[in-house]
Amino acid sequence: MRLITSIADLQGFAHQTRAAGKSLALVPTMGALHAGHLSLVRQAKRQCDVVVVSIFVNPMQFGRGEDFSRYPRTREKDLELLGGYKVDATFAPSVAEMYPEGFETFVEPGELATALEGAARPGHFRGVLTVVLKLFNLVRPDAAYFGQKDFQQALLVRRLVEDLNLDMRLVISPTVREPDGLAVSSRNAYLSLEERAAALVLHRSLRQAEELVHTGETETRKLLDEMRKVFAVEPRAQLDYVAIVDTTKLQPVERVTAGCVALVAARVGTTRLIDNLIFGPPGASPETLLQLALSGRPVADARTRIPGLETDALRLKIEACRDCAAISFISLPPRQFLTKYLKRNYPDLNAVRVAVVGRDAPNRPENYLYENPAGSNHFVAGLYELVGVKDFAEFRTRFVLTDAIRCHALGLHVPEKALANCAKHLSEELKLFPNLDKLVVLGEDAYLQFQQFILERSPAAIKPFAGLLQSNGWAGEEVRLAALGERVVRVFYCYHPTFGYHRSPSIAAHLA
Ligand code: AMP
Repeated sequence: MRLITSIADLQGFAHQTRAAGKSLALVPTMGALHAGHLSLVRQAKRQCDVVVVSIFVNPMQFGRGEDFSRYPRTREKDLELLGGYKVDATFAPSVAEMYPEGFETFVEPGELATALEGAARPGHFRGVLTVVLKLFNLVRPDAAYFGQKDFQQALLVRRLVEDLNLDMRLVISPTVREPDGLAVSSRNAYLSLEERAAALVLHRSLRQAEELVHTGETETRKLLDEMRKVFAVEPRAQLDYVAIVDTTKLQPVERVTAGCVALVAARVGTTRLIDNLIFGPPGASPETLLQLALSGRPVADARTRIPGLETDALRLKIEACRDCAAISFISLPPRQFLTKYLKRNYPDLNAVRVAVVGRDAPNRPENYLYENPAGSNHFVAGLYELVGVKDFAEFRTRFVLTDAIRCHALGLHVPEKALANCAKHLSEELKLFPNLDKLVVLGEDAYLQFQQFILERSPAAIKPFAGLLQSNGWAGEEVRLAALGERVVRVFYCYHPTFGYHRSPSIAAHLA
């Protein structure tokens, strides 16, 4: 491995490499190398022919009163490590080589550098981007390698490459951690044994937020509160900031979606540490999470459809009244869906006394309650009158609508078995609302399914719908519901056109 200390030699080395048609990687570091740096080196070795690692403790990125002078410098050990990794060249210049007399041109980052680390360390990113651009110009690498550990830095370097049209790839690698979760960092060397133990609080708070998200909590305010609580019980750590942000602008978000990032900075003793965590599907690999975060837009593939992270989407769907779509969207059993999400987001539903089952004519939007919430067709008007609400807004805060019977089974021809299965789900759902005294079943095909699969009546025992019809246009009867501990509940059925009763052979036969 070559040790290069002058700019001229580095340029010469890079020039020769390019002239030989070899691809060139740059891994910028401040030395005191650890497993995090080495993961970048490994990645660079895999992807490029020749690897240059720079070691430079850049004074320009340290503020007054920060740890520039005591920053760990372990050059011999670093060189040994890099030699072991068969790195081709290490560039370790002096400060005077990088910033000779008269140096006065800087890279001025924009908005992205104002929050978080930028706010806590004024001028830091100006220093980082200036040295990084200098290194990029010296090496002109095909690819440069950075760590997720310094997440904001990685985003800023990405902006630099984009904004200044640098012709190179940027590779960002997941944070390397100690077995107990502490993010590996050169600054960990400052920590006493007790502080080392206390420093785990950063990762613990991030994991706490992640766990909550995976169990369905997506409200940032609550997540941040919980993270702060984790810090509150660790007196050795002084929280600087916690934030949950999007990755396009690093702006705080109200609700977590896949690809959002939680960042923390804290002082443990005199050591300032940072860490971050990307939210995503449980079990997603660190690489997938990074991809999610760096794509900068919500990724709507199957892997991101996870409980918790999609409750935003879910809530929107519920509010747009595609509740069944929401249920199938998250592939959760309905009971779980109701307990975890619907009842959490709509706590009033605990007091629900009326459940509405089925939905009206999905293929006829004018009749479709949920597509047409303001619509005042006779059916909708009748329903509101029946349940005693003035409009859809009130309806949806007080009533649960479950599509169990018809919509958990999609397709025109729904096998009997699927209907029975849906009914089983519905029974489970009904148990969640023990106060229920009314049940509204929409549409007479749902009526038949309700009769057959919930009340377990044989086709012969099912009364013709018209026989139950009352003067208000609704059919009604008192029924004993097994799902509600054999309680007697008033069930209303409505009559309205559906699309031809092809859904189940027995229903088709019954209606023929
Ligand atoms: P530094 O020497 O602290 O300037 O870091 C040099 C590079 O290594 C930066 O791109 C960091 O983001 C990256 N890095 C530092 N710590 C880690 C870590 N624990 N895991 C992965 N990358 C890291």
